[in-house]
Amino acid sequence: MPRRKKQYKSVTGMTDVLPEQQPWWEKIESVTSSIANFYRFSKISTPILEEEELFVKGTGKTTEIVEKEMYILKTKGGERLVLRPEFTPALVRSYIENGMEALPKPVKLWSMGPVFRHEKPQKGRYRQFHQFNFEVFGDKSPIIDSLLIHLFFNFLLQLGLKNWHIEINSIGCRECRPAYVKVLKRYYKKKISKICPDCRKRLKKNPLRVLDCKEEKCQRVKKLAPKIIDSLCSDCDEHFKAVLEFLDESKTFYFLNPYLVRGLDYYTKTVFEFMPGKEIGQGNRMSSLIGGGRYDLLIEELGGKPTPAIGGAGGIERIIEEMKEAKKETKPLLKKHAPSYKEKPIAFLIQIGHLARKKSLSIIEEFKKNKIKIAENLGKDNFKAQLQIASRAEVKFALILGQKECLDDTIILRNMETGIQKVIPQADIFQEIKK
Ligand code: AMP
Repeated sequence: MPRRKKQYKSVTGMTDVLPEQQPWWEKIESVTSSIANFYRFSKISTPILEEEELFVKGTGKTTEIVEKEMYILKTKGGERLVLRPEFTPALVRSYIENGMEALPKPVKLWSMGPVFRHEKPQKGRYRQFHQFNFEVFGDKSPIIDSLLIHLFFNFLLQLGLKNWHIEINSIGCRECRPAYVKVLKRYYKKKISKICPDCRKRLKKNPLRVLDCKEEKCQRVKKLAPKIIDSLCSDCDEHFKAVLEFLDESKTFYFLNPYLVRGLDYYTKTVFEFMPGKEIGQGNRMSSLIGGGRYDLLIEELGGKPTPAIGGAGGIERIIEEMKEAKKETKPLLKKHAPSYKEKPIAFLIQIGHLARKKSLSIIEEFKKNKIKIAENLGKDNFKAQLQIASRAEVKFALILGQKECLDDTIILRNMETGIQKVIPQADIFQEIKK
């Protein structure tokens, strides 16, 4: 009898991307880099293998990822390495290691590639999957949170996806969270017999994570749990309100989810998720499309200078599944507007004062719609500092927006070469620039 040959298979939870699937991937790659280019993020690629400790310290010892899901390997030299389970700690490592702390802030980075988590494989949940992520280092203003959320919002719209919604929450900071955790523990201790064994452990090790549990009985207990929003300190409260205000201004629709905590340890203040379905509860709660949040303490924790930061990551496989479900045909890539990093912005938007900063978001959007590149530094509000940045960016025009211009619906157009300025109606910006 001839011996039967062994049929090799791909490793459980890891799939091939076959030639016929490639157009979906190419479309995502193309939209991601066009969005990155528009919002002026620089691409960075880091190795797939990192030191284990980076994620234990960064992602957090008591997180699901570190406790149960990392692929760990020991080298012949005795080093303990992991296949990266997410991007953020790796990007922070690279930012510190490569002297990027000395760069003008904010430093905006994006990346894309495979990540590995030893989860139970099922539809939309793989052991090797792919993420793109956007991170902003060095700016604590709430408008940056809104801008990042808005970036992901635009990303999904640009892919033609409509069946999703945004959920947002604030999980406070080192000052206010401990008081909330106490209240939460007190509430759950009274219901201890009604929660799952895992949540009983979580209550001891990482209490916030009980809010993340997907077990039905725990979901029932969660319904009446205290909300962190009611315990925020004034700084976190103001920050969160401002984020929502900026989101409203840029017509980025969202749902408040007071129990959204996200599974990672490093978050502070704003957290968000893009979920399938038109509103809370409609889609599969296990399969968020994009998730992220602010992590103002992580860079320092990993050995850098104290630096506020925010970021988010999307899962490519899940987004492709959504695209397929939406039966979007894979039209040729956005070749016409393919990004080029050498392409310089033509204008720089200078905003002075709260009203102008709010208005900036819709002006930037108009530029995006008109496919004209514009740069900004929304974290700054000093005129001189912004003018200097504009001059360094070698733009042709600066657009200056202050309180008066906002009220009059005008804007100042400054020719950066001649220094000549004129006031024009906001509606005429594109006509003037094209001239
Ligand atoms: P996280 O890093 O857990 O915040 O996840 C960010 C995004 O990655 C999620 O919103 C998903 O789109 C995607 N994702 C997370 N885990 C998986 C997985 N096991 N398989 C496929 N995609 C995933």
